[in-house]
Amino acid sequence: MSEIKTIGVLTSGGDAPGMNAAVRAVVRTGIYYGFKVLGIRKGYEGLLNGDMEEMTLRSVGDIIHRGGTILQTARSAEFNTEAGVKKAISIAKVFGIDALIVIGGDGSYRGARDLSNLGLTTMCIPGTIDNDIASTEYTIGFDTALNTVQDAIDKIRDTAYSHERCSVLEVMGRRAGYIALNVAISGGAEAAILPEKEFDIDRDIIKPIIEGRNRGKKHYLVIIAEGVGGAVEIAKYIEEKTDIKTRATILGHIQRGGSPTVYDRVMASRMGAHAVQLLKDGFRNRVVSLQNGAITDFEINEALSMKKSIDEKMVELNKILAL
Ligand code: ATP
Repeated sequence: MSEIKTIGVLTSGGDAPGMNAAVRAVVRTGIYYGFKVLGIRKGYEGLLNGDMEEMTLRSVGDIIHRGGTILQTARSAEFNTEAGVKKAISIAKVFGIDALIVIGGDGSYRGARDLSNLGLTTMCIPGTIDNDIASTEYTIGFDTALNTVQDAIDKIRDTAYSHERCSVLEVMGRRAGYIALNVAISGGAEAAILPEKEFDIDRDIIKPIIEGRNRGKKHYLVIIAEGVGGAVEIAKYIEEKTDIKTRATILGHIQRGGSPTVYDRVMASRMGAHAVQLLKDGFRNRVVSLQNGAITDFEINEALSMKKSIDEKMVELNKILAL
C-alpha cells in the first residue's frame, strides 16, 4: 500500500454549522502527524477545477465559531458521471493527493465511494443538518439546526399565544424527519408530520387540535417536515376546519446558518481528528461514525448499505406529551 503524504479535504452537499470545526481538526491533526493538507474549494466541483491550496495551522485560525464552510461547498453535476469521477482522479494525481477527506452527506459519501473504487483513498465525515446518514447516530450541524429551530418556535409561540392562533411550521430535513421529530418534542407541538409515517390530516392534525381546544388549549403548534411539505395548504385546511386563525411559517435556510453549538464543535473536532488518525494508522476508505456515544468507523460500502429509521419511541412520546 502506497504511503500517504498529502491529504485533500473538501466540504460537499449542503453546508452545515460545524463543518469549519471539522476542517480545522483535519488540518491541524494532519499537520501534527506530518501530512501536507490541501484545502479544496467548492466540493467535488473544486476538485475537478483544481481549485485548491495548501492549508497551514494559521489558515484554520478563527474559524471554529463560524457557520457555513470556509472551503465553500457545491453540488456538482459533472462529478456525478463516470467521466467526471475519472477526471477527478486525474486532477488529484496532478496535485499529488494521496487521500481525500470528504465532509458531507450521503450523496457526498457516494461520490467518495466512486473515487475509492478507482483507487483514490477516501475518508468521509458526516456533515449535514439533517442527521439522515444511516451509518452514524449523529451528523455535524444537527444540534445547531435544532437549536435554531427551537429559537424560532419560542418566538412564534409568543405571538401564537397572544393571538390564540395555530402555527404551522415547516422545518428542513430533506427526506428525513429527525429535525421535525426532535423540535416537536422540544417545542411541545400538538402534531408532527414526518415523511417516515403515513398521515391523515383529520386524524393526525385536526383531531388533536380540537381535543386540545376542548381541554382548554389556547394556541397550537404543528410541525411539518420538509419531506412532507405543504405547510401553507395545511394551515388553510386547519383554519377552514376549526375556525382557529392559522399561520404557516417555512423556516428555510435560516436553519443552515449560525455559529455552531458546543456539541457540534466538539463532535466535529473529534470526527475530523479521527479521520486523519485512520489514515495515519493505515486504514483506507472508511466513514467516521458515532455509535453509542463513541467515535468509530465503517468501511464505506458497508456504511452505504445501512438503513436508518425513525425512533418509534420518540414518535409515541411526542403524541403522549402533546395531550
Ligand atoms: P446534504 O445531505 O446536506 O444534502 P449530500 O452530500 O447528501 O449533503 P448531495 O447533493 O446529495 O448532498 O451530494 C453532494 C455531491 O456529491 C453531488 O453534487 C455529487 O457531485 C456527489 N454525489 C451525489 N450523489 C452521488 C452518487 N449517487 N454518486 C456519485 N456522486 C454523487
